[in-house]
Amino acid sequence: MVPPPSGLPSSFEIMEQHWPVQYSAGLTEVRDCYGVTLTDEQRIVMDTNMSREKLVATLLHELLHACYAIQPDTNISHEQQEKFVDTLAPALLSFLRSNGIWWLLK
Ligand SMILES: [Zn+2]
Repeated sequence: MVPPPSGLPSSFEIMEQHWPVQYSAGLTEVRDCYGVTLTDEQRIVMDTNMSREKLVATLLHELLHACYAIQPDTNISHEQQEKFVDTLAPALLSFLRSNGIWWLLK
């Protein structure tokens, strides 16, 4: 594991659950993916061997998997969830960049 790239989180809090984010400089070679959400272990692992733009987009993608995983009734297939997350993540990233989150904060 390597330290988080500058400005990226080392963990998330999602509905009072703690989700560590670990960074690895070679995940793609081991798992054939840029990031993985390990729902049983409640952690996210990210490869750092990609552009910052791809890293941010992938981290948001994995965050959505984590958000989905903590819901009590999650009876869709992995393929359906992947399609949902793949569809939602780019739109959410664009939305957050265009509008910020100031209005969500207390
Ligand atoms: Zn995914």
